[in-house]
Amino acid sequence: MHDDVDPVTFEAGSPAVPPIVLSSYFRSAGDPDPAALHYGRMHNPTWSDLEADLGRLEDADAIVLASGQAATHALLLAARDVLDADVLVAVVPGEGYYGTRNLAAALPGIDARVVDQRDLDALRPALEPGRSLLWVETPTNPLLRVLDLDQLATITHDAGCLLAVDNTLATAALQRPLDHGADVTMTSLTKAASGHSDVILGSLATRDRALAERIRAWRTLAGGIPGPVEAWLARRGLATLELRIRHQSRSAAELAPRLAAHPLVRAVHYPVDGEVTQRQLPHGRGPVVSFVVAGGAATADRVVASSRVVAPGTSFGGVHSSWERRRRWAGDDCDDALIRLSVGVEPVDELWADVSHALDRAG
Ligand SMILES: *Cc1c(COP(=O)(O)O)cnc(C)c1O
Repeated sequence: MHDDVDPVTFEAGSPAVPPIVLSSYFRSAGDPDPAALHYGRMHNPTWSDLEADLGRLEDADAIVLASGQAATHALLLAARDVLDADVLVAVVPGEGYYGTRNLAAALPGIDARVVDQRDLDALRPALEPGRSLLWVETPTNPLLRVLDLDQLATITHDAGCLLAVDNTLATAALQRPLDHGADVTMTSLTKAASGHSDVILGSLATRDRALAERIRAWRTLAGGIPGPVEAWLARRGLATLELRIRHQSRSAAELAPRLAAHPLVRAVHYPVDGEVTQRQLPHGRGPVVSFVVAGGAATADRVVASSRVVAPGTSFGGVHSSWERRRRWAGDDCDDALIRLSVGVEPVDELWADVSHALDRAG
């Protein structure tokens, strides 16, 4: 817990940057002291350094796992334990990360139900009182719609259920779902949170002690643990998260209307102005802009192939801009000619020169 973190000490001669602890076990003998370190699948000081920083961002207990998917896996199992349900009903969005839907559908003991979460009349009856986890992703991906977390938290808690928010896109630097009633957040640190496209890692954050305890128990039991090197890299990236993502969001907000004005572009998706967006994303609306080009998939593929600065590829949130035509994967239900652009930290005019040139050439 954030309160338990030792205050930073500036002891003379101590390293300014914490070391990477690679040891697979820690020296111990006799009756195990529960407060001591024993074995590297149970705990590691480098994970703890990262968890302390992540916890401060959300005023919560943060738990790091091997990937976003490992975090989702541990959370589904832990939620089932905490609700004491034989079968956990996971209510997942149709528009959102397809890995979440596929994992929930594949796990025994989890009953996955896909619901359009903007349709509250469909959502309410999908929640089984006392044994559901509502899984929300906002802004949605790839259409960047903003869902009202306070409202969804009320609906979830009225049914005695748990609300989880996938906060990968905005990160805790832009959006704090726990402050809007969520019980737990999941963040793929692979994306903007680490920010340099050099690690696969995930985290969960919660203020619910019982849930945190069950998540840690599943991490130790199933072994979906982070590597210490990855944890160290993610912590270094996290130090600049706020700077990066605010800059990226400003650039994305500037590119959205420029894209909309280009003759080849039929539609642009970016979080719209409004009360809910102001409340949930007061410091920026995220680094991702989606847009649909005229001419279908072939034109969109030509656009993606024509850039010199924006890299073709499937991730988002990193310091280097990237994009892809989303429908080249089977998972997303969107227009065939939709391109998801992740805006990096490059100067915005340099980016626009590259993007507009690619659109001009492909059109
Ligand atoms: C990438 C991603 C995940 C999965 O994270 P991994 O680190 O790749 O396992 C989950 N949710 C969202 C929104 C993502 O973008």
